[in-house]
Amino acid sequence: MRTISIFGITGSIGQTAANILVEQSNKFILTVITGGDNVAELAKQAIRLSPKYVVIANEAHLYELRSLLMGYNFEISAGRQALMDAASIPVDVSLQAIVGFPGVQCSLIAAKFSKTLALANKESLVCAGPLLQKICTTNNTKLVPVDSEHSAIFQCMLGESILSVERIILTGSGGPFFNTAIENLKHVNSKQAASHPRWSMGQRISIDSASMFNKAMELIETKELFDVSIDKLEVIIQPQSIIHSMVGFNDGSIKAQLGPADMSGAIGYAINFPKRESLLVERLNFAKLRQLDFLPVDQLKFPAINLATRAMNIGGMAGAVFNAAKEQALDLFLIDNIGFLDMAICVEFALNEYELNQIKHNYIFEDIMEQDTHTRVRVKEMAKGL
Ligand code: NAD
Ligand code: MG
Repeated sequence: MRTISIFGITGSIGQTAANILVEQSNKFILTVITGGDNVAELAKQAIRLSPKYVVIANEAHLYELRSLLMGYNFEISAGRQALMDAASIPVDVSLQAIVGFPGVQCSLIAAKFSKTLALANKESLVCAGPLLQKICTTNNTKLVPVDSEHSAIFQCMLGESILSVERIILTGSGGPFFNTAIENLKHVNSKQAASHPRWSMGQRISIDSASMFNKAMELIETKELFDVSIDKLEVIIQPQSIIHSMVGFNDGSIKAQLGPADMSGAIGYAINFPKRESLLVERLNFAKLRQLDFLPVDQLKFPAINLATRAMNIGGMAGAVFNAAKEQALDLFLIDNIGFLDMAICVEFALNEYELNQIKHNYIFEDIMEQDTHTRVRVKEMAKGL
């Protein structure tokens, strides 16, 4: 049996992982579960899965959590420091499924104390890729991606050398606005943006998928994860979301990984790696499916992709700048302060400002935090004028 901790169990990835643990209950012993604000869901999962430690990141919920779990024998704690302490508890597998920048530090700590880091929090690689890779190498930690595209690429790369890779082709569903005219995108609201046609995901990543900022983040994530040059990265829309990504090699051969649009596959793969364990997911029926379509991305309508390429070319902490600006812009979009298309303007502004700086190539996590805060403040100020 493997020990496992799940950070962000109350979210979309976390709850899917919880269901897999129930399905594969003879494979795992649960050490830590954490949640951010959803205290009722956290208590529900604790009672269902019996972990050793239960942590709620928002301290204000501590008493409610204690009262919901009265009579049970869990070690309960709350707050940011408690979260970091929980990430320092050694385990075989740590699943990092906190959303956004708050998950980055947690991944960096867990990378020291787990044998396998099953990484859903893509912000960790976008904001702190080189730091995370260094910690994993130093501590002999296996980094296995949970993002479906990166899980696909990882699986295609098994037995291959990165030196023979000619291209990495990330697939995307196109999101809810793929066929919407650019003029009509100006006035879409967050509810429309959050309704993804294929994948069931958390609110933030769903809106990022609609703007293609998710795909843009995934380009940076791919570069950081596989250490591949920018000119080898491609994006193609695969509306059925059956092909999760592809790798092209120097002999013209292409490997693809296919499966249903269900995150269970990538989560189950990462937490069981290097084994494959059976999963109760839908099996593809090709006769029913009949066809797979491919479409190019409209770069004018979705400037996020070019902005990601720009961030990668700038280097230094541009990934952290990209993410902070995107997260701040999304917060403003969620409260109707800016429009859907303004989010890209915010990111472009932040990259422009960062590019004027002396780009720092050697940095520590504190530098990233400082840059993150600075970028958010600047974007907020600039957005007042939009
Ligand atoms: P979600 O919003 O559904 O859940 C996020 C989790 O993080 C929740 O448990 C929440 O309580 C916790 N959290 C939020 N803020 C926190 C904070 N400040 N401190 C501690 N915990 C906090 O998000 P999700 O869709 O499950 O995504 C999680 C991560 O996985 C993201 O980085 C996302 O990009 C990535 N991802 C998600 C999917 C998907 O299908 N949902 C696919 C690929 C990658
Ligand atoms: Mg993805």
